[in-house]
Amino acid sequence: MTLSVRDAGARSDTGRVRSSNEDSLLVDAPLFAVADGMGGANAGEVASAIAIDTLHTHRGGETALAKAIETANGAIHTSSTTDAARKGMGTTVTALLVDGDDVVIGHVGDSRAYLYRAGRLQRLTDDHSLVEELVRRGALSPEEAERHPQRSVITRALGAEPGVDIDMLRFAAEPDDVYLLASDGLTGMVGDGEIERILAEPGDLQSRADRLVDAANQAGGEDNVTVILVALERAGAATSDRRAPLVIVPDPYEDRTPEDAGAPVPRSPGRPPTVLLAAIGAAALIVALLLVIGLQWSHFVGAQPDGRLAVYQGVPVELPFDVLLYKPVLLTDIPVAALTAPQRAAILDQRLGSRSAADTRLEDLLRTSPWLRPPTAG
Ligand code: CA
Repeated sequence: MTLSVRDAGARSDTGRVRSSNEDSLLVDAPLFAVADGMGGANAGEVASAIAIDTLHTHRGGETALAKAIETANGAIHTSSTTDAARKGMGTTVTALLVDGDDVVIGHVGDSRAYLYRAGRLQRLTDDHSLVEELVRRGALSPEEAERHPQRSVITRALGAEPGVDIDMLRFAAEPDDVYLLASDGLTGMVGDGEIERILAEPGDLQSRADRLVDAANQAGGEDNVTVILVALERAGAATSDRRAPLVIVPDPYEDRTPEDAGAPVPRSPGRPPTVLLAAIGAAALIVALLLVIGLQWSHFVGAQPDGRLAVYQGVPVELPFDVLLYKPVLLTDIPVAALTAPQRAAILDQRLGSRSAADTRLEDLLRTSPWLRPPTAG
């Protein structure tokens, strides 16, 4: 038995908070891919577009897919190291290839692939993210990870280093399987249970892809949202879908300067915890004072929204109403994705300590990795 694609649906949306869409996607049976770019100004759009363009022009089986992802990594890394406006840019990629009786997935970052089979949704990929590493090490619970303020920081990305570690996965597929590829703008806003409920609704895959994106926007639309749905059938079945390829990349991404795109709108981490203080009230003034003193003293090493290491003052907690109990006090140029796994485990353990202890830990990291760039701002 050989499988082919019966139906596909896809949509990419800027969402309700960001000013531009840094996601790109490819729908060209039997190959499908989502890429979620990151980087200052519009560099994230460039990175995700390079990834999708490279996949689109390098076709073949599993080996060719892995090679195409490596090629994309090299192209993004070269561009980011030769063009100052693109310094540090990167992208996730989650690509799915229908290959005979199997699907092959090539995966780097925190976009996801899911299988929807017989009414049940099953995740196929691991997130290469800071919070998922912390969950695996037992430092965070899965529930804490969902609300963690640094949940969008990824630990592997295309473009961060000259080489890249790719998860290549192969699964036995069945007719009527539906595969979902999505950027974290979907999975960060819509839970797996809600995704499963929408996939169970009637209608073609395009209408269900639209409903998934709508659900992410109704939940706040805090990030760019990209969704691809792919349904399989036995090859040669009469309903085979023969659509033209769909490649969505930011256009025209090659000619833009950073000034052309609106500045990204990162959530400001600098607000004081006024809501918390009000809630505690005068009766607990001493407790509040101790808390404030603790927040003044407490520092930890974390990462900025674009994935670069930073020293934060406070504790890594986000309260309701967007009240953040931390603010950055030292920004660096060091992308988390450029660190080795042992380096990340050593530095990004959420340990609280004094400012000088946090600075010392960053200096130790720099000393053991002399090629890393030192902090640039105080
Ligand atoms: Ca994203």
